Amino acid sequence: MNTCFHCKGCVEPSTRTHVVDLDKCIVIIRNVPCMECTQCGEAYYSDEVQKRLDEIVKTVSSVMTEIAVVEYSGSAA
Ligand SMILES: [Zn+2]
Repeated sequence: MNTCFHCKGCVEPSTRTHVVDLDKCIVIIRNVPCMECTQCGEAYYSDEVQKRLDEIVKTVSSVMTEIAVVEYSGSAA
């Protein structure tokens, strides 16, 4: 994918901080690889990254209390 779904702008490889707001806690994942629109800033994650984010959130949210900040990593935590 190299055009933005929203504004048809250019998307380029980038990283961003992904924040997941759960009922009881907030998970902040830093340096997540994504494709980011240079025009509107919309970020797109690959299926692989999306899946990994879900795993990280699931793992972290089961042991955390309120706010967790973790670095993205492609391998199992
Ligand atoms: Zn855009």
